[in-house]
Amino acid sequence: MTASNSEARQAAFRLLPSVDELLRDEAVLKAGAGMTHERLVRALGEILDGWRAAIGKGRLDADGLTAHLSEGGAAAALAERQRAESRRGVVPIVNATGVVLNTGLGRAPVHPEAAEAMKRAAAGYCVLEVDRETGKRNRRDEYLASLVCELTGAEAGIVVNNCAGSVMLVLSTFAREREAIVSRGELVEIGGSFRVPAVMERAGAKLVEAGTTNRTRLSDYSEKLNKNTGLLLKVHTSNYRVVGFTEEVSPTDLAALGGEHEVPTAYDLGSGLLESDGLKPLPLGDEPRVIEAVASGVDVVMFSGDKLFGGPQAGFLVGKKRAIDALRDNPVYRALRCDKVTLAGLEETLKLYLAGRGDEIPARALMTRDPKELQALAEEIAAAANAIDGFTATVVPERSQPGSGSAPDIFIDTFAARLTHASLSPDALSAALRHGEPSVFSRIADDALVLDPRTLLEGDLERLLGALAAVEA
Ligand SMILES: *Cc1c(COP(=O)(O)O)cnc(C)c1O
Repeated sequence: MTASNSEARQAAFRLLPSVDELLRDEAVLKAGAGMTHERLVRALGEILDGWRAAIGKGRLDADGLTAHLSEGGAAAALAERQRAESRRGVVPIVNATGVVLNTGLGRAPVHPEAAEAMKRAAAGYCVLEVDRETGKRNRRDEYLASLVCELTGAEAGIVVNNCAGSVMLVLSTFAREREAIVSRGELVEIGGSFRVPAVMERAGAKLVEAGTTNRTRLSDYSEKLNKNTGLLLKVHTSNYRVVGFTEEVSPTDLAALGGEHEVPTAYDLGSGLLESDGLKPLPLGDEPRVIEAVASGVDVVMFSGDKLFGGPQAGFLVGKKRAIDALRDNPVYRALRCDKVTLAGLEETLKLYLAGRGDEIPARALMTRDPKELQALAEEIAAAANAIDGFTATVVPERSQPGSGSAPDIFIDTFAARLTHASLSPDALSAALRHGEPSVFSRIADDALVLDPRTLLEGDLERLLGALAAVEA
């Protein structure tokens, strides 16, 4: 470093204001409104640190700093920090990916009536663990359990925070310090670090593998049964398919084997498809159904609340009363129980199913949208994009996905707007939309940006068009 360089830096360092000086600047105070004094001081300190580092690296000199300060650089930096912060956390976005259940984007959007019930429960007091008639203490999920039993045909039910919690509760109740037999073909990882063998280990269960990766027969389970067996567990492989020469044991056969040896049986379904009379069937191939799983006679059937069921995050456990009572008596249940907001949302979602309005539940409704309606929406998006400088858009047949580990090999025909931009690559365009306000999530295919209208909810089309118009090249 030359001496003059070093002197220039010292000169710039000397021009740096102090936090106290910045705090006397009206514009800074205005930009920092809504921050506590402590936070404001910390933020200004960090902004000054950034400038100091830039000077140190020779990226900012005295003239640059003077100009920056006179242009209100401190207030602008503070405002930018505030904007960046408002984009963090759990903020709403527009989902134009066409993936209906996307864990990264919050899985199932609940029905507006469920959302309303959740809001009411959150904002006030509610009947939670008290009987309204007698004023005595009761169970928080008593009504919920009665609804889910009515819908699924189960004798009893209980609900916890998510399906991973359901599996944990089942293992901890029936297989702690005992053996749980699982088919080798079902020792899967469900994503989000949910690995069946790891969960079993943490629950204190000894994993006993039955059969092979592609074929497991009933005799493979019965060979492993012994006086230490606590559970026969079946896991739906969800996001994974073994095809070709395969064989798996039906839940009915597994339930019979368990019954014969008085060993509890459990079936982790994950996605929780709830087909019943009067509901439009979902285009999901052979995805197992909750009602059939319950009818198979296994003691406990587990499924997620926020996958195909279409409610808030939860894990349902339904089945035989004796088994469910045992789950309820496990102290671990207390650590996994749902809060009032989730319970309110689940109750409302169940009521929609029972009122014959299951097709209105967004997770289901989005999967069965009319292709004509989707085509019209895609055309509207493409036309709006073509009217904006730089964009070229067409409507193309595309494929949506159910997502969230349900039916990995299933795609649903859709129509999408395919966008390219004169000066932005598809990646840059996708990033610009993600960073915009509102933030839009899209897909990239064949070197273009794909906007699939399938996953647009009420009001999202307008928000999406606004976001496109705001893209800066
Ligand atoms: C998704 C899934 C889980 C985990 O469910 P969460 O509700 O996300 O905890 C467990 N088992 C199977 C088979 C799944 O598909």
